[in-house]
Amino acid sequence: MKILVIGSGGREHALVWKLAQSAEAEKIWCAPGNAGIAMERLGKNGSLVECVKLSAEDLSGLLAFAQAGRADLTVVGPDNPLAAGIVDLFQKNGRRIWGPNKRAAQFEASKVFAQDFMDKHGIPTARSAAFAEAKPAKAFAASLGGRCAVKADGLALGKGVLICSGPAEAVRAIDDILVHKSFGEAGARILIQEFLEGTEVSLHALCDGRAAKLFPTSQDHKRALDGDRGLNTGGMGTYSPAPFLNEAQLAEIQKTILKPWLEGCSAEGIDFRGILYPGLMLTRGGPKVLEFNARFGDPETQVYLTRLADDLLELLEASVDGTLGGRELKWNPGYSVCVVMASGGYPGSYEKGKVIRGLKELESTSHLKVFHAGTSRSGNDIVTNGGRVLGVTAWADSLPRAREAAYDGVRRIHFEGAHFRSDIAAQALRGAGPGSSPQAGAPPT
Ligand code: AMP
Repeated sequence: MKILVIGSGGREHALVWKLAQSAEAEKIWCAPGNAGIAMERLGKNGSLVECVKLSAEDLSGLLAFAQAGRADLTVVGPDNPLAAGIVDLFQKNGRRIWGPNKRAAQFEASKVFAQDFMDKHGIPTARSAAFAEAKPAKAFAASLGGRCAVKADGLALGKGVLICSGPAEAVRAIDDILVHKSFGEAGARILIQEFLEGTEVSLHALCDGRAAKLFPTSQDHKRALDGDRGLNTGGMGTYSPAPFLNEAQLAEIQKTILKPWLEGCSAEGIDFRGILYPGLMLTRGGPKVLEFNARFGDPETQVYLTRLADDLLELLEASVDGTLGGRELKWNPGYSVCVVMASGGYPGSYEKGKVIRGLKELESTSHLKVFHAGTSRSGNDIVTNGGRVLGVTAWADSLPRAREAAYDGVRRIHFEGAHFRSDIAAQALRGAGPGSSPQAGAPPT
């Protein structure tokens, strides 16, 4: 089978790495890929994965490439091409593609759409309202005492959410988005949600239009610095499983969130085939949904795919074909930890082109994989080419061992200005659980 993977981050490296292990994979392209992806070899025939110089947003270029190469399946990593309708375009042209279509991708691309859907179908979430005008928005925020989340409706590179602790902040946030247009068109409408307190967790479920198969738990670390300080980032590290949800809570989430979500999709004719990735708050009143994403998380994918025992290609095909229903996903027991190494200055401005040393020496280390994100090749060197550079991922039968192995890998890799958090999975090791986050409402995700 010939597969085209779209994207260039650590998520896509993990997808390519796992797909390359499939017995059915004969050829893999990645557009545009990165230096690590270009070094992957297929298990079936030893051929190298080929990176293609096409942007993930060049929809017609990607279609033409898939047609010319007769790709049997295209796998979409990032949210932008999904929101732009790449799945619809490929399907209209008779090409098999994995990911939600444009309508289904709205769960992520429009917060107002997602909230309306949740309100309509009884999915537990925050009290909220949507606005295009500042005046009524301010009145609603005032009715919540100013303690609220003000969210740009559209995709805003994960930055379109402003958390407000009082009326003045809420007014400023509303003006920022609706009046000063700080997120451009993505902020033409806003959603205001009441502020929810609790422990934050995110989940992944693989969907096939009818069934949704829940993944194990994981936890991301969004802030740039140890102790959940510093600016928000795309994610500085993850581990799986996370101790924040027990079996009873997972069963409750199946019943109160996934079941009505599936029924709602069916009632509205929304055909969701892909990953549903809800962000939840475990509140005193039970789990509530803060938002939905409609693709794999990054760096969640790195820990999930190093634990997945199934053939990923088979699962993605079942998701496309609507045949997931009878399957149970199989996971390796044990733990996986991913520590992100970033460029100095990230998530602010940073320099590129720093030579990365130590990668070769780690290639033969078992139970460890260095997933590349912002890297490229310069002659014989691999150099930094983005904010998040590498996701050093290790797996073992215990969380302390997986964590130690990941940090051991990190210590062996060097590039100028390299920055990483030293407390990935630390909260889990301390045995912390729901309600025990140091700051109510601001757990380390
Ligand atoms: P979102 O992209 O909607 O998940 O928002 C980004 C982050 O803002 C979340 O990961 C939470 O930490 C926080 N957040 C969003 N909505 C709320 C809310 N209603 N109450 C408290 N925190 C929130």
